[in-house]
Amino acid sequence: MLALSAARLGLQCRIYDPSPNGPAAHVSDQYTQAEYSDLADVKAFAKTCDIVTYEFENVPSDTALAASTVSTLYPPANALDVAQDRLTEKSFIRDIAKVPVANFEDVASLKGLQSSVNHLGLPCILKTRRMGYDGKGQFVIRTENDIISAWEGLNGQAAILEKFMPFIREVSVIAARNSRGDFTSYPVIENIHKNQILHTSTAPSRNLTTTRDDAQNLARRIMDALGYVGVMATEFFEMEDGSLIVNEIAPRVHNSGHWTQDAGCIDQFELHIRAICGWPLGSTAPLHKVEMTNLLGEDVNDWANYAKEPNTFIHLYGKSDPRAGRKMGHINRIIKSE
Ligand code: AMP
Repeated sequence: MLALSAARLGLQCRIYDPSPNGPAAHVSDQYTQAEYSDLADVKAFAKTCDIVTYEFENVPSDTALAASTVSTLYPPANALDVAQDRLTEKSFIRDIAKVPVANFEDVASLKGLQSSVNHLGLPCILKTRRMGYDGKGQFVIRTENDIISAWEGLNGQAAILEKFMPFIREVSVIAARNSRGDFTSYPVIENIHKNQILHTSTAPSRNLTTTRDDAQNLARRIMDALGYVGVMATEFFEMEDGSLIVNEIAPRVHNSGHWTQDAGCIDQFELHIRAICGWPLGSTAPLHKVEMTNLLGEDVNDWANYAKEPNTFIHLYGKSDPRAGRKMGHINRIIKSE
């Protein structure tokens, strides 16, 4: 989707991907299949590019650093470092950007876990520090009896323990910053998860007048602290008193921003390209409300029914294997104002 947006702006995209036939292969100028760990290949590839970016936050930081030695890398490698490790991420957001997160502690042993449960109080969530997404690598501890099974679930991986937040809603902000420090943000997005995977995103979110500016300001504070360039997503828990707690950041275009493709403003993909290329950021004000629904696994087989719906736009990713829970596409429904 980034390559499509770049093409519309007259730019050519070259793709580096370990998989032989990633979706971008069908819509880009050149496709290099090579491993992230082959730093010589990474450098040879990056040398042919004016700007290198990524849309997957588990690109190893050594790979990103290698690219940054021969080309301009945006978002900067420190953003990847921060986002890849929950301990670094939460510490950075709380201590450097001074933005609220759930209370958390680093956990290094079963004994340490037991004392962190005492400090934070039940319920809480044990999360692996690295490679966790869509609820993977997470263990909710509701009673003392859950402690040992949660610890065993980690399988030796480093982890943090986080206080469970009784939020009323999950919202996110998609924002962009360029190298001059210009900033823009879409309205706050309301997200509904099913089985810890994003199901629908609706924007602008309902009834958020008290927190809209706060959410954008908090996102901006984190991006300024990172010296960020590009599009970034910030995910929040909205608490009953209207306060916002950051759950995590994603240094990339984000699933909760896919609705922007059919909102009548610049979409998040073009916005990212504009931000990393130093273009004016442009308008992020949607002309209408949009609800995005993910097509997960076999849901994608219903594409013909969605194609009949009025005011509905279908986006299919061209992935071949519709495994359960795999993101195969999404639909954007325009919500008409009453
Ligand atoms: P994550 O992988 O950290 O984004 O977590 C996946 C989902 O788990 C979130 O979207 C929330 O629904 C839930 N979750 C994560 N952390 C917490 C928390 N501290 N309190 C309550 N729910 C949480």
